[in-house]
Amino acid sequence: MLNIVLFGPPGAGKGTQANLLIERYGLLHLSTGDILRREIANKTQLGLEAKKIMDEGSLVPDEVVIGMIESKIELNLFCNGFIFDGFPRTKAQAVALDNLLKIKGTCISVMLSLKVQDEELIRRLISRGKDSGRSDDQDEEIIANRINEYNNKTAPLKQYYSFHEKFQEIEGVGSINDISHRLNKVIDSL
Ligand code: ADP
Repeated sequence: MLNIVLFGPPGAGKGTQANLLIERYGLLHLSTGDILRREIANKTQLGLEAKKIMDEGSLVPDEVVIGMIESKIELNLFCNGFIFDGFPRTKAQAVALDNLLKIKGTCISVMLSLKVQDEELIRRLISRGKDSGRSDDQDEEIIANRINEYNNKTAPLKQYYSFHEKFQEIEGVGSINDISHRLNKVIDSL
């Protein structure tokens, strides 16, 4: 299996690039943000609880997102591989993911980390907020909190994947096409 962690701060372009990667490599896209937003739209108990946290720009508890990913992996074991988008976001999530994949006889192939400066992220998120309808993209304070959460809890995962020799950093500024070529080049050389 080809299992990719697509990594980077909010607004780095993970969703856009994930869509191109799933087409090219026939992968299954697992975005915890999308799964949570579906729960909110369906007004489930989990959705109701997650909404409050997401509206502040904080992280949903580890056990919630780990449980969601576990059931998705379980249901899709016979695909070419997974692209994890927005997950893992903490060390506990990364360790849980490694364990889950190990039990299934597979592992993470690579972490592709998109690098974009904070000022550019804020600009992109504000502009996305104008037409996405995502409430967490429409308030500068919430955006700042998401970037803070990323810097404090999520960015340290770069060291975790580096230690396991899975970390690859990709310049995330440029045209969608250029960035996509950069990602493909790394994957094709694995
Ligand atoms: P972005 O990367 O633009 O912040 P996401 O759709 O990945 O967008 O995430 C939106 C929100 O969903 C996050 O701010 C957080 O509250 C919640 N969330 C998504 N994935 C996770 C995760 N793996 N762990 C904890 N919270 C998560």
